[in-house]
Amino acid sequence: MFRRGAKKSDNTKYYDVLGVSKDATQEDLKKAYRKAAIKNHPDKGGDPEKFKELAQAYEVLSDPEKREIYDQYGEDALKEGMGGGGGMHDPFDIFQSFFGGGNPFGGGGSSRGRRQRRGEDVVHPLKVSLEDLYIGISKKLSLSRNVICSKCNGKGSKSGNSMKCSGCQGSGMKVTIRQLGPGMIQQMQHPCNECKGTGESINEKDRCPLCKGEKVVQEKKVLEVIVEKGMQNGQKITFPGEADEAPDTITGDIVFVLQQKEHPKFKRKGDDLFMEHTLSLVEALCGFRFILTHLDGRQLLIKSDPGEVVKPDQFKAINDEGMPVYQRAFMKGKLYIHFTVDFPDSLDPDQIKALQAVLPPRPSMQLSDMELDECEETTLHDVNMEEEMRRKQAQAQEAYDEDEDMRGGGQRVQCAQQ
Ligand SMILES: [Zn+2]
Ligand SMILES: [Zn+2]
Repeated sequence: MFRRGAKKSDNTKYYDVLGVSKDATQEDLKKAYRKAAIKNHPDKGGDPEKFKELAQAYEVLSDPEKREIYDQYGEDALKEGMGGGGGMHDPFDIFQSFFGGGNPFGGGGSSRGRRQRRGEDVVHPLKVSLEDLYIGISKKLSLSRNVICSKCNGKGSKSGNSMKCSGCQGSGMKVTIRQLGPGMIQQMQHPCNECKGTGESINEKDRCPLCKGEKVVQEKKVLEVIVEKGMQNGQKITFPGEADEAPDTITGDIVFVLQQKEHPKFKRKGDDLFMEHTLSLVEALCGFRFILTHLDGRQLLIKSDPGEVVKPDQFKAINDEGMPVYQRAFMKGKLYIHFTVDFPDSLDPDQIKALQAVLPPRPSMQLSDMELDECEETTLHDVNMEEEMRRKQAQAQEAYDEDEDMRGGGQRVQCAQQ
């Protein structure tokens, strides 16, 4: 009777609300509604008006007959056609029945006050390399999850009916009493094992053949995780409403937490990169150059200025060769290079002579015989300073403890004197 085609009134609003095109399939509509409704659910802090709009749009577009009227004549025609009093359904009811938790036979009133359980979020660590965070990558991950059985809409039965579980009289919980000792009992409450805490049971013959009465079925799903340039270790990437579905439950999120693997060359601090580089003594004194392969494979030539001497423990920085700034990838931090100078352990007399000839004179050699005569000879020992300090600290602690003991004794004496 109705034909799509001529557009006489505003008949695009519902498509816009759901963010789908006019030729969206039922599957597209479902997907769009699922995502948006979870995101905008008032229980999750969403805007109730937006939530209502979404439900309205979905209710109309998911019904082929209503959709045809809407496409042809727009929203107003639809409202008239539904006959004065009727109007739209409660958005919470639409939401619940979409997620399989609705109860079309009970109450009939608004379920606005009813709060839904929120399903748990599923958190996965996601290992990434520093290269991944520098370049940005997308990873496809295959996950299996529970989804509401499409055959029975999450009812678990062919008829849509269920009975009270006889094991728990429908409460979903069972109480066991344990005798701990004479006159002592322990009461424990736990979910009923016969109905898995749902409080209902489904007649064997009435069970849904697809989910075997479980209400959910396993589904393999591939998620594409986009790791953006400059993301940080520990940053979360969230897929709203993609965790396990369950009846009467707002589906939780799948959350990936980035875990950056150690990099053999670079350390990251914020948007900056740090690396160590060891120079030989001749490089430190006479100049150096070396090639550094960056995280994206570019080869950087790093060199000293002519005549420049690099001292041990000196830092130098290259601008814009650090990490890209998250969501501002055209900006980059700095690359800091920490230099270590590898000194020779000893020199032979010829080397000393050659060096003396070119280096500034040694002040230590300008001592007079008279000065030297008045001096005592000493010996320099090699020490491991860290170990040395550790030992000294331990000694100090010991002495302090002893001192405390003595002081304690002294106070006792004082008290006795008073
Ligand atoms: Zn039960
Ligand atoms: Zn089923």
